[in-house]
Amino acid sequence: MTRDIVIVGGGTAGWMAAAMLSRFLERGWRITLVESEEIGTVGVGEATIPPIRAFNSSLGLDEDEFVRATKATFKLGIEFVGWRGDGHRYMHAFGPVGRELGIVSFHHYWRRARALGLAQELGAYSFNAVAAQQDRFGRTLPAGTSLAAPPYAFHFDAGLYAAFLRRYAEARGVRRVEGKVVEAARGDSGIASVRLESGESVAGELFIDCSGFRGLLIEQALGAGFEDWSHWLPCDRAMAMPCAHSGGFTPYTRATARSAGWQWRIPLQHRIGNGYVYSSAHLSDDEAAAALLANLDGEPLGDPRALRFAAGRRRSAWVGNCVALGLAAGFLEPLESTSIHLVQSGLVRLLQLLPSPSGIGAAEVAEYNRQTRFEWERIRDFLILHYKATDRPEPLWRAAAAMEIPPSLADRISLFREAGRVFREGEELFTENGWVQVLIGQGIVPESWHPLAELLSEDELGGFLATVKRQIDHHSAAWPLHRDIVARIAGSPA
Ligand SMILES: Cc1cc2nc3c(=O)[nH]c(=O)nc-3n(C[C@H](O)[C@H](O)[C@H](O)COP(=O)(O)OP(=O)(O)OC[C@H]3O[C@@H](n4cnc5c(N)ncnc54)[C@H](O)[C@@H]3O)c2cc1C
Repeated sequence: MTRDIVIVGGGTAGWMAAAMLSRFLERGWRITLVESEEIGTVGVGEATIPPIRAFNSSLGLDEDEFVRATKATFKLGIEFVGWRGDGHRYMHAFGPVGRELGIVSFHHYWRRARALGLAQELGAYSFNAVAAQQDRFGRTLPAGTSLAAPPYAFHFDAGLYAAFLRRYAEARGVRRVEGKVVEAARGDSGIASVRLESGESVAGELFIDCSGFRGLLIEQALGAGFEDWSHWLPCDRAMAMPCAHSGGFTPYTRATARSAGWQWRIPLQHRIGNGYVYSSAHLSDDEAAAALLANLDGEPLGDPRALRFAAGRRRSAWVGNCVALGLAAGFLEPLESTSIHLVQSGLVRLLQLLPSPSGIGAAEVAEYNRQTRFEWERIRDFLILHYKATDRPEPLWRAAAAMEIPPSLADRISLFREAGRVFREGEELFTENGWVQVLIGQGIVPESWHPLAELLSEDELGGFLATVKRQIDHHSAAWPLHRDIVARIAGSPA
């Protein structure tokens, strides 16, 4: 018996779903993707986080070929500029800060050393941050070093990525249907079929809603409901505009705080992606466009493009026989580059809970929704932290600093503030290292440290930090320039 999966939408989410499902459901399933060229895609979304490499490798993609096809560059982290006043900067770099010593995390030693005047800024002990600031990149470190292999991600053109995955999925039998869905016919378990403008009807057992913000199936047909988080994440617009390269070919994303939001800068091979994410209650579209144009590295390429959104998520990402992925499932602003990752993790979860031929079990749906809610809420908290702990004088930022935050985040901040304790909860996305860098970067410096960090003498403590720093500086200086690595890959034959 062949079982039918219908994906509605051919943006990044739709083609990621088609690629992954066609890779893992080789036999017994038929996959159809419906998309409308006339409606088009969101067309932004360029920065990713390290798990994207696991997604690509699970598909068997060759990394260099992927880099060429999507005009990608490499990413070691995100630099935050101006979040604690103009001129202030710190990095949320991927990977560890410092080195483990016993059971106590590095930042406890760092905090004590800082109190004694023996330590530099925290970022000086992150390999990725140090390499990034020198515009250097490498995929590995020499064998024998005690430093962990540095994790990395990519900046890429999301439209080219979707096209790349489309070729992959179609080669594995995914059928693409061009057309506009005008109606969803209801069945016993949710959606029975979708009808296209042409009159054609596409039936399925399982539907994946990748139709973007409109949530054609999950919301319009099934009424999942939307949980609005805009009282915590007040930005509801983005003005996007690419520009020509000029200046540094940085292996990191930059997020610069502005008067009514923040600006992203994402270098690709052929252009720099830029966008101003802002609150429409504090800035008009024209003002945002002018501010963006005034803050580009190079010649603008095209006109500014405005996008509207609301922060939040569908109350249930899986309803009946329909699972929402991508923007159809909700939206969290791109401050920590998590949207494409949420498509990936939703797909992995779906494969783990794939319905058996006897039908869709209520317990499986409930578990999918429970895990999805947890994942989204923890990322939401991480984003809110950036707003809550920002120190700027403008009205948006003053309101954000004064807002009440979710208890889950308030507890985490209190625990950290006291003596630097922070824990990764269950399967939450961001690691202890990520939380530590952003908490300290945003000015929440622990008042004290773990008592075991006292076991080293002052000399030993100073020596430990100096050794770690020496290793980081030595190996990062040996990495080639990011620009040269990308040029070599981009120029090498396909
Ligand atoms: C301002 C902004 C910045 C972002 N930056 C990042 C980032 O840096 N990193 C990151 O990971 N993510 C980012 N994202 C998110 C990222 O762009 C999206 O998560 C990703 O592109 C997935 O989009 P999508 O496929 O869900 O939706 P879309 O791109 O909107 O695609 C929807 C698809 O559904 C189809 N469709 C809709 N209605 C119908 C219909 N009636 N009939 C047939 N087809 C239909 C459309 O034609 C299209 O193919 C950003 C998003 C925004 C808004």
